[in-house]
Amino acid sequence: DKYHAVLAENRRLHNEVQELKGNIRVYCRIRPFLPGEDRKNTSIESVGDDGELIIANPTKPGKDGNKTFIFNRVFGPVTTQEQVFLDIQPLVRSVLDGFNVCIFAYGQTGSGKTYTMSGPNSPTEKDWGVNYRALNDLFNISRERKQVIDYEVGVQMIEIYNEQVRDLLSTDGVQKKLGIVNTSQPSGLAVPDATMQKVQSTSDVIDLMNLGFSNRAMSSTALNERSSRSHSILTVHVTGLDKKTKSTLRGSLHLVDLAGSERVDRSEVIGDRLKEAQHINKSLSALGDVIFALAQKNSHVPYRNSKLTQVLQTSLGGQAKTLMFVQVNPDASSYSETLSTLKFAERVSSVELGAAKNNK
Ligand code: ADP
Repeated sequence: DKYHAVLAENRRLHNEVQELKGNIRVYCRIRPFLPGEDRKNTSIESVGDDGELIIANPTKPGKDGNKTFIFNRVFGPVTTQEQVFLDIQPLVRSVLDGFNVCIFAYGQTGSGKTYTMSGPNSPTEKDWGVNYRALNDLFNISRERKQVIDYEVGVQMIEIYNEQVRDLLSTDGVQKKLGIVNTSQPSGLAVPDATMQKVQSTSDVIDLMNLGFSNRAMSSTALNERSSRSHSILTVHVTGLDKKTKSTLRGSLHLVDLAGSERVDRSEVIGDRLKEAQHINKSLSALGDVIFALAQKNSHVPYRNSKLTQVLQTSLGGQAKTLMFVQVNPDASSYSETLSTLKFAERVSSVELGAAKNNK
């Protein structure tokens, strides 16, 4: 019957998720050249099917200048949004079984972070990024299971700018500054005062995200600049009531579009720009340190060093699952940023996060 079909599907999914091993997975995605960019000058030497990426140093042509990296996957420039999503679908679905999942996009400004997470501006369905596809999929599966489990989905959207947390879903036009709760509950709310909106369909989500994007713009004098200097976090909270056993499960999905990772030349910026750059530096290296400490199974994990890692504390490590998209601009002029991006990725990917267990 339906109940057993759902259980079987759960088991299949569970096995698939076990294969993800609870490690941090690192997927590198290379964006295509954009119209007007010079395709001849690229730092991408080759993209293998097996997760191998070779980059070429433009100032040191020939094999000697090449560097090889290995990730869980490398998506070349022609990879579609759909192909990317198919790869992460089991991970996203595990949220409905009570897992906490965190998906990041890391890279320099202009490398495709927002494209991967959300899509281009006002995307058509074909161009939808991870966040629309993930929510769409969660709604589809929860409808399929509705005889067995009653799911409720709530969404929060916040921004971290200069180490201050702001609510992006408030409707009163005021962007409250928010506090973070140090919760030990795996599914407790780290930012309880951020607006939580119940959503029932993908179109609800699209409306909310548009509100979030416009709130982000409103607080900014120059939209593009601001959005690359803040982290935005869309959190999907799922509660499922099993109709037969009356037990409740909770899962969460954090979709994080990180601030641009480019290093800023300190001699060239002053005032606000310098402050922003320092905050971004601090929080991205804090994130790297946390993931590294978890992977090394260190007894001390330095969550307290940034707002970003405090907000995500309960969703990193333990039974949570982490995936990082490392975004690369193919242009040779970005070579040194690309190299430092890939080195960051290599550091966080070389080792495992805590083993995944089904916490039902
Ligand atoms: P970031 O968020 O890292 O600053 P964006 O996501 O804004 O970068 O991407 C920069 C530009 O490149 C945008 O115009 C975006 O639409 C385009 N772009 C990025 N990735 C792709 C892709 N895979 N396919 C087509 N266009 C892309």
